[in-house]
Amino acid sequence: MFDALTDRLSSVFDRLSGRGVLSEKDIDEALKEVRTALLDADVALPVVRDFIARAREQASGEAVIRSVRPADQVVKITYDGLVEMLGGEGAEGLNLSLNPPTVILMAGLQGSGKTTTAAKLALRLSRERKKVLLASLDTRRPAAMEQLATLAVQAGVDSLPIVAGQSAPDIARRALSSARLQGFDVVILDTAGRTTLDEAMMAEAAEIAAIGQPHETLLVADSLTGQDAVRTARAFHERLPLTGLVLTRADGDGRGGAALSMRAVTGLPIKFLGVSEKIDGLDVFDAARVAGRILGQGDIVALVEKAAQDLDTAKAEAMARRLAKGQFDLDMMADQLAQMKRMGGMEGLMGLLPGVQKVKKQIAEANISDKALDRQAAIISSMTKAERRKPDILQASRKRRIAAGAGVEVAEINRLLKQHRQMADAFKMMSRDGGKGFARMAGM
Ligand code: GDP
Repeated sequence: MFDALTDRLSSVFDRLSGRGVLSEKDIDEALKEVRTALLDADVALPVVRDFIARAREQASGEAVIRSVRPADQVVKITYDGLVEMLGGEGAEGLNLSLNPPTVILMAGLQGSGKTTTAAKLALRLSRERKKVLLASLDTRRPAAMEQLATLAVQAGVDSLPIVAGQSAPDIARRALSSARLQGFDVVILDTAGRTTLDEAMMAEAAEIAAIGQPHETLLVADSLTGQDAVRTARAFHERLPLTGLVLTRADGDGRGGAALSMRAVTGLPIKFLGVSEKIDGLDVFDAARVAGRILGQGDIVALVEKAAQDLDTAKAEAMARRLAKGQFDLDMMADQLAQMKRMGGMEGLMGLLPGVQKVKKQIAEANISDKALDRQAAIISSMTKAERRKPDILQASRKRRIAAGAGVEVAEINRLLKQHRQMADAFKMMSRDGGKGFARMAGM
């Protein structure tokens, strides 16, 4: 679906990669071309504007990684921007109730692929060993009910028996009570669509949402309809408490940009992509994977990520050498604090440590919360260079000045200095016994 965009972007990057050093003007021009490529691919203008502004900011703020070509760094920035635009790392998945049955409401225009998607979801859930009930509330098109029943058979799940003449709200109530009585884990309500946005359709879907109190209300939109799909999503979102989007026909050869705007315009997560007519043609939406596919430059992204890591490693090694000599000043402490934050703060860091339970209590006692990390960084940055090098010179008047600068009490500065001394002592001890201390501290 993104082929044209992929081609355009690769040609931008190809042109850049011929050059060794990139000036600000080069990057500016490249981003302008990326901008045009995104607009031509039908990405909504405000979304593109935002994307370019952020990319520009990142390009100017990015540490220069000498081991990678500047052009590759631009690829990485574009990739990061796409991932962000598509909703960030990590797939959303369905929000299943702890108290079954989970109610899933499907909404969307006629022909968007709503009924097919309902069946695809049913199949996916039944493969996860969930007992699923499919119910069609489409009283306008009797054939729709038959279609869902047929699809249910294909998916190997149950469908609600068809009772002629019932209203959509009544069918919804019947589906819910059947699901409860018969111990279904999930009940999927497929509402009636219309060919265009239509008040009666919206009102009916809203009424059913009020009856069913769905845990998930998914809008199914045809990604090939471009900006219309975005408008549809927005209109539905105004009337229904949508929780996510499913974009169908991602296997088609449309321009695809609407899909890229969808998340940013509606604020709703894209949860699934329909990738074929077949009943198993539903992929969990993964922003990183889609961005990688659009750029078609997965190896470069990986390379830049690795180089950025190496940069951190080189810094860490330099720090280790200084530590081994017993040097640990407040600048190094500030570096440590910043690194801790980058690694997802204390929580993220602790997840990486083996034997973490032992240190958890100590850390809690030492008050190393993320907020505290920020305040400590503020204190250190309020010090002069000399003070950071030689904390011993910090007498009362200097401490008062720093406290005012960082907006904290003097007592907090004293705590930080004490902590710094303890860390410096600990590092000294570790460097003396040849690194065994590190292992002891981590409880390995
Ligand atoms: P509804 O009116 O919204 O319920 O739409 P349907 O579920 O009946 O789908 C309309 C047509 O689109 C059917 O022929 C489906 O097979 C087809 N369709 C649905 N999803 C996809 C998809 O992700 N890819 C492709 N290629 N076709 C799809």
